[in-house]
Amino acid sequence: MKRKRKIVILAHCILNVNSKVEGLATYSGALKSLVTDYINKDYGIIQLPCPETTFCGLQRWGMSRNQYDHPNYRRHCREILIPVVDQIRLYKKSGYAIEEIVCVNGSPSCGLDFSFEGFTGGLVNSEAANPDVVRKVQKNGVFIDELAKLLKEQGLKVIYKAIDEKKQLNKFSLNINGRRHTWCC
Ligand code: SF4
Repeated sequence: MKRKRKIVILAHCILNVNSKVEGLATYSGALKSLVTDYINKDYGIIQLPCPETTFCGLQRWGMSRNQYDHPNYRRHCREILIPVVDQIRLYKKSGYAIEEIVCVNGSPSCGLDFSFEGFTGGLVNSEAANPDVVRKVQKNGVFIDELAKLLKEQGLKVIYKAIDEKKQLNKFSLNINGRRHTWCC
């Protein structure tokens, strides 16, 4: 069968919600409507790695963008992104269309249009960890920031899109331990 030669790149948790911070999942496995839409349109799918799981594991706390904006985390993001950027370059060189990269708005790592800042560290039950201190900022996530830099360095152009995680959080009225959490991951 003739292949369509078009590829979409999805943030890891769009295909595997199990990578999210415990308690923050808004679907049970994969984001079916989005994924099946791409499958039905004959896209091949590349799954980005989840930088927070590979850096902090599955028992991590939800953190804000300013907390993840650390040189070592940025280095980690670049390291795990290099094989992905290599693939993008190879596919493009061979005439494949990398149609778009789908990010997760609201995420401190994978956000595109916005993420959240505010936590300053300290004890988990302290005021510094109160979700009310977290505010929306018009910044991309640290991981997407590094991906964009790597692609630019290589002269590779892609279209970025994002699912709106915040809308999903509102929709599902997420509430953990009596507190409303407004960030994702
Ligand atoms: S949005 Fe969060 S859970 Fe999803 S892939 Fe990015 S870092 Fe991982």
